[in-house]
Amino acid sequence: MTTDLPTPLRALAVGAHPDDVEFGCGGTLAKWAAAGCEISHLVCTDGSKGSWDPADDPATLVADRQVEQRAASVALGGTGSVVFLGWRDGELESGLRQRAELCHWIRRLRPDVVLGHDPWKRYRLHPDHHHAGLLVVEGIVAARDPHFFPEQAEAPHRPSHLLLWEADAPDHVEDIGTGLEAKLAALLEHRSQYRSTMDIDDPASTEQADRFRAKIRERAAEAGAVDGVAYGERFKLLSKL
Ligand SMILES: [Zn+2]
Repeated sequence: MTTDLPTPLRALAVGAHPDDVEFGCGGTLAKWAAAGCEISHLVCTDGSKGSWDPADDPATLVADRQVEQRAASVALGGTGSVVFLGWRDGELESGLRQRAELCHWIRRLRPDVVLGHDPWKRYRLHPDHHHAGLLVVEGIVAARDPHFFPEQAEAPHRPSHLLLWEADAPDHVEDIGTGLEAKLAALLEHRSQYRSTMDIDDPASTEQADRFRAKIRERAAEAGAVDGVAYGERFKLLSKL
């Protein structure tokens, strides 16, 4: 188990849905942002299925979730881009068109560290998380090599490290002692997800929000305990990309 990469100049986190980045690596991003790193978000799908209420209008939900995602990025200290690829929620594919988009954004934003879903996580049910993970890995391969998508205007770019969250075989911990409060604040910007993801039925209930905060703190404590830090986020670390 390794701990704490050097703070990158630029980091790009790639999630399947609005809120995945905050759950997966929000503490790490907040810590780095506070130390001067430019952090960017890329969200693959439009999040249009992220509601348990059949009466919800998907177009309104999509717009609301973009606002929430931008607010969450600000809560983490984000000063980079927040990119929405807008593929339909639940139907993300890891094909050539999507890979070209990832390649374009990696070349354009030039992150030192890329973070994303682990595509090799066993028994994962949600297809979007699987495909978003594949897109991160395959997008990096394309972005670093000039013969992939040569029609793109941006120069090739090779990140230094890739961190995969919810990893099948985690081998790296980031100490998020200084980023945990910002992670909690960023998660709570995703108000449309209170009911379905955070078990908060009443947005006005401080008790329910506190219960959610306690759950996230507990998870971070468990993740940190394997490497002796108070609060952590665990990843699979890939270097020499
Ligand atoms: Zn998700």
